Amino acid sequence: MRYRTNNEGTGYKGRDHDRPIKPEAEHFEHCPVCGQDFDMRDLGQVLHHAEPEHQPLEPVS
Ligand SMILES: [Zn+2]
Repeated sequence: MRYRTNNEGTGYKGRDHDRPIKPEAEHFEHCPVCGQDFDMRDLGQVLHHAEPEHQPLEPVS
């Protein structure tokens, strides 16, 4: 799922240098602050969830 972010990391997406080495599900982390699962390859999402106080991101439709 994609989420709308608006910070300095928005638009930066990590990718594998060679063939995919992890299953898709292993790229996601559970945020202990807001409880939302997020894609660790998406810098905008990572920076959003790194803030000490935040709300879950809105899904992009
Ligand atoms: Zn969060």
